[in-house]
Amino acid sequence: YHQLNVERIRKDFPILSREVNGKPLVYLDNAATSQTPQVVIDCIVDYYQNYNANIHRGVHTLSQEATEAYEASRKKIQQHFNAKHPHEIIFTSGTTHGINLVASAFESQIGKGDIVLISALEHHSNIVPWQMLCEKTDATLEVIPMNTKGELILSEFDKLVSKQPKIVAVTHISNALGSIIPIKYIISESHKNGAAVLIDGAQACPHIKPDVQDLDVDFYVCGAHKICGPTGIGMLYGKEAWLNKLPPYQGGGEMIAEVTFEKTTYAGLPHKFEAGTPNISGGIAFGVALDYMNSIGFENIAQYEATLLHYATEQLLQIDGLKIYGTAAEKTSVISFNVDNIHPYDIGTILDKLGIAVRTGHHCTQPIMDFYNIPGTVRASFSFYNTKEEVDLFVTALKKAVMMLS
Ligand code: PMP
Repeated sequence: YHQLNVERIRKDFPILSREVNGKPLVYLDNAATSQTPQVVIDCIVDYYQNYNANIHRGVHTLSQEATEAYEASRKKIQQHFNAKHPHEIIFTSGTTHGINLVASAFESQIGKGDIVLISALEHHSNIVPWQMLCEKTDATLEVIPMNTKGELILSEFDKLVSKQPKIVAVTHISNALGSIIPIKYIISESHKNGAAVLIDGAQACPHIKPDVQDLDVDFYVCGAHKICGPTGIGMLYGKEAWLNKLPPYQGGGEMIAEVTFEKTTYAGLPHKFEAGTPNISGGIAFGVALDYMNSIGFENIAQYEATLLHYATEQLLQIDGLKIYGTAAEKTSVISFNVDNIHPYDIGTILDKLGIAVRTGHHCTQPIMDFYNIPGTVRASFSFYNTKEEVDLFVTALKKAVMMLS
């Protein structure tokens, strides 16, 4: 473990030196999206300045350069997640797209009375696509319940999984509470009961480096924009056998082998799931973002963020009436809280006036808010480029806001 040189790291992110409302920006909304280092910005500019072209079909030089860079990025992503083959990495527009792709393709695997199992901690994007699937197929959606600490109740999972669901779709880390879910256990128990498993890695990938072969997971999805990459690009990892078995999600160019009006045959992996012109610069920049994160090191990131989380939690708990939601034994650098009965939106608005960016509301996890019987929370989420000084600025500003609002 190496102590991070945060001072130096912050210089990689031009946005971190801007001001908001006349105050230095304190960006604590990293769980919504991360900021972008200069190398990633440069990569996108370089693409449009020097080799912007459509991929996979051009004989000319620019097209070949773009294709090579895009496919090299796929290999980088494969290596990062330790997938067996590059064609097990499908480029998507983000986490939501990846989940919808699998849920839609699973129409071919599911029938009336079958069970789809999700958890109480899911983001709406890992709930709604499965509800849509269940509606179309007359399957039943079941939910692994949570406890007040924001952990899944594994004894209940054991009971539900013994009912042999067709697919289990669970988040790796909760975006609203930060809880880390024991997915290795969930995956192995699901497999014992004949279920496929999709893991929503949107919140995990900024903090840890998942090894999809070690996890033995069937599908793993994430988006680049929470990992220092651009928006509009993400990846779906799928085991080769599953991806071969599932039908394509969208039809169009790039995904075919042969088209006649009578019959179309599909391209092989990964193109079968990549209809249309993709986000080419985004795909290339995704690889650069992973290189950047790996150059800092995920072990170092996790250690540093843990100290920030610990420090911020201690400071916040000194504020009268402040209640933290999500106290799982294993959690990442996310703190969701309310102070007395003050509306989270009011706190967020005053914090913004003081230059501090936090998220307020239900965080696309209304069922979690319903569980706690609250309309929403204030959520501060920390990244490796945040500092203890920023935590202090945040806590001071929060005290000011609470004083004004009580
Ligand atoms: N799942 C989780 C756990 C998330 O945190 C998010 C992003 N907030 C998503 C899914 C959806 O990601 P995106 O909006 O980038 O598709």
